[in-house]
Amino acid sequence: MHSPLRLTLDTAALQHNWRWLAERSGVACGAAIKANAYGLGAPEALKALHAAGCRDFFVTTWDEAGRLGAVPEDAALSVLHGVGSGDLAAALASSAKPVLNSVEQVGRWKAEGQGRPCDVMVDTGMNRLGVSVDEAAALAPRIRTENHGITLLISHLACAEQPEHALNQRQIELFREVRLLYRGIPGSLANSSGIFLGNSAHCDMVRPGAALFGVNPTPGRRNPMQPVVQLQARVVQVRNVPKGDTIGYNATWTAKHAARIAVAAVGYADGYPRAASASDTTPGSDAIVADTRCPLAGRVSMDLLAVDVTALAENAVRRGDLITLIGGMIGVDDLAAAAETIGYEVLVNLGRRYHRVYRDS
Ligand SMILES: *Cc1c(COP(=O)(O)O)cnc(C)c1O
Repeated sequence: MHSPLRLTLDTAALQHNWRWLAERSGVACGAAIKANAYGLGAPEALKALHAAGCRDFFVTTWDEAGRLGAVPEDAALSVLHGVGSGDLAAALASSAKPVLNSVEQVGRWKAEGQGRPCDVMVDTGMNRLGVSVDEAAALAPRIRTENHGITLLISHLACAEQPEHALNQRQIELFREVRLLYRGIPGSLANSSGIFLGNSAHCDMVRPGAALFGVNPTPGRRNPMQPVVQLQARVVQVRNVPKGDTIGYNATWTAKHAARIAVAAVGYADGYPRAASASDTTPGSDAIVADTRCPLAGRVSMDLLAVDVTALAENAVRRGDLITLIGGMIGVDDLAAAAETIGYEVLVNLGRRYHRVYRDS
């Protein structure tokens, strides 16, 4: 029983999702592949997305940029956390460009970067990273006269997945005003959900991440993206549980009738969320066993979880069978909802224990 856990990434679906978002936005389409491409493998994601036509990639740190290895010559890689004093050596040794996040970083790159390319992040309302709108305005006259190296002006939306939220229009408008001061420098505002806010959010480039990997960028509406991730685990034991017995830690799930339980070798150490556990009072997530959606039973433990397969025929599931935790009827967002989190968090938590398969469907 080799590789008890299997994570399958559908590269064709990933490429389809990128093309679809690029077409929908009608402008250049980059890709956020930070956090190891949301847990799925940044080198493989970059290769597949580059083959689909993507030329602009975003990671978080210089370490992530380094792990990515050589980036194709016709592609650009941006490092979102910019260049702190401790990052300067790594930044100067890298072919990637920093996303400058403060006036201090702009000064540092001006002094040390020798006119090499950089991006600038402007904070239009997230209040996280970036020069303020006022700072951006104050810098603009200098930028117009100096050899500044700025290749992209970036801002980031705080509420893009809530299209009705007033902050979206405010950020779109503020960014439009800043861009007027930086004429000739391309601008980028929209993440995955931002692409669905319409043309005014698209600017010159969009930067989806999660939607590329199948997370729904339009929560509450039908997911327009193709699923990319399938998570499967092996059944290590099938057991009969008499009525009234409990299952797992803290005995939170009681068999209301004689039950058959499949125990699978996957748990929270593998990034499967413990919050997706099932109890007598709260249903958890589900698993697909022998093509049938079956509920979890009891707490998800570190390396194991239990699935109630009573509804299946006696021999429908055996030791060694693969069950599906993400895939088919169970989307990343479904598991996230069961665990009261978001698809992003589910994806990035998927651990390294998996045997990863990149499949071209
Ligand atoms: C993560 C990130 C993105 C991509 O966001 P998604 O919501 O995953 O599409 C884009 N821009 C910045 C600055 C980011 O940090």
